[in-house]
Amino acid sequence: MITNFIKQLFTPNGKKKSTAPTGSREAKKRARQKAQAPVSHKANSYPAKKHGINPKYISEAALMVTQTLADAGFEAYVVGGAVRDLMQDLQPKDFDVATNATPEQIVRLFRRARIIGRRFRIVHVPHKRELIEVTTFRANTENLDTDAHGRVLRDNAFGSLQDDAIRRDLTINALYYDTKRQVVLDFHGGVQDLDAQVLRIIGDPVTRFREDPVRMLRILRFMAKLDFDVDDATMRAMDECKSLLGNIPQARLFDETLKFFTSGHATASLDALQDYDFTEYLMPVLADVLDSEKGATWVRAMLEQTDARVNQDKSISPGFLFAGLMWPQIEKRWAFFEQSEPQIVALDRAIIEVLNQSNSGDQVMITKRFVADMREIWSLQPRLERRLPRQALNLVAHPRFRAGYDFLLLRAQLGHLGAHGIDVATWWGNFYDASAALREQMVTDLRNSPKANLNPITGAPVPAAKRRRRRKTNAKSAAPSE
Ligand code: ATP
Ligand code: MG
Repeated sequence: MITNFIKQLFTPNGKKKSTAPTGSREAKKRARQKAQAPVSHKANSYPAKKHGINPKYISEAALMVTQTLADAGFEAYVVGGAVRDLMQDLQPKDFDVATNATPEQIVRLFRRARIIGRRFRIVHVPHKRELIEVTTFRANTENLDTDAHGRVLRDNAFGSLQDDAIRRDLTINALYYDTKRQVVLDFHGGVQDLDAQVLRIIGDPVTRFREDPVRMLRILRFMAKLDFDVDDATMRAMDECKSLLGNIPQARLFDETLKFFTSGHATASLDALQDYDFTEYLMPVLADVLDSEKGATWVRAMLEQTDARVNQDKSISPGFLFAGLMWPQIEKRWAFFEQSEPQIVALDRAIIEVLNQSNSGDQVMITKRFVADMREIWSLQPRLERRLPRQALNLVAHPRFRAGYDFLLLRAQLGHLGAHGIDVATWWGNFYDASAALREQMVTDLRNSPKANLNPITGAPVPAAKRRRRRKTNAKSAAPSE
């Protein structure tokens, strides 16, 4: 039977052919039910011409790590996302390796290897510009160290390859590639599920979500990335277990949020979060922002820009991203405080209030160094809007100028800065690109313009510069000592 299945799966020239019916959700659902994976403790072994992975796409570092472990007498496989993605003709984000060597045995084999993590000890093996995560096979034990909700606090008991497979989250993430024999081992019907395009948790979904609620967020992320459906039982359990996310340490939620929005599938991830009502569990301030049409348009534009950057292999600044996700809330509170305070003071108050809310209670805690970037990007906004001649040279030299300018430009492009927003943003773009002499000239022109003392966006007069009071200098220290 499996031969038949495999025959269907591959064309005679060895190229993959999807057996999953394309088109209607109904058809997909039928295929899904048909593909109900039998829970087997014996692996199906798929040879090279059947799984279709071209060994030249296995990274040099992953090959080096599996080879070194095998030479030392250990079992070692490429596992997880890399196998899943290669079988889908996608480029893996990273390579993970699973082995029966213990963390201590692994670090002895690789000069720069380090053991990291407490809850789940793994070994990082850097090789050239890559980093391979090596994990020791987890034991399938009943005696996991859990909290009152069933969340696993520590998972460092080691076991066999079969045990390890059962501890993984999804069937499609529990495929093991033997780089030497070029076979894929599959204990839980992951190959069938890949073909039926279905995300299915291994074991009882509620128990598995209780052990680690973050698995639900991973499923939403894979839905967005792979455009797969979720198996019915897994979906029902996700509905039931949502609120367990409140029990996850904030730093881990923050990591997961970052993965959501920097995966290159940020807009699809947002759709998945929204469609399944998970936004408020991941990031409550974002749920508020998305409630307004203006906020939702802004966030979507921000995420489209982020996806475009990721897909062009450009870097993503988490500070910029989170500054964007929270901006509509800042803007709302800024307008409120501005009724009674000067513009800059009002913005400071809004920033403090929104950040305090986001970093307390059950909400995402944003890493301090990113918060510093966010504050600077936000604080630059009114300064860039005003475009005061006396501040222009200092502002363009500001370490966060580029991010602040990109932010201003997006606001202007979305029409959030009124009729003159684009002119002001364009001026800053030209000023940034200009030579020192041209910058001086641009500042002089600004100063001499009849509207030099008006905010170019609002048209309102800007307050004159405060005269700095000269500090009285001590006569002795001021006098040059001869
Ligand atoms: P990608 O790296 O593309 O985001 P991935 O599936 O490789 O996807 P990783 O976070 O790199 O995700 O994890 C590697 C593998 O470890 C997974 O494929 C899965 O087998 C296992 N894994 C990761 N997180 C969990 C979890 N919370 N519960 C169970 N298994 C997990
Ligand atoms: Mg991975």
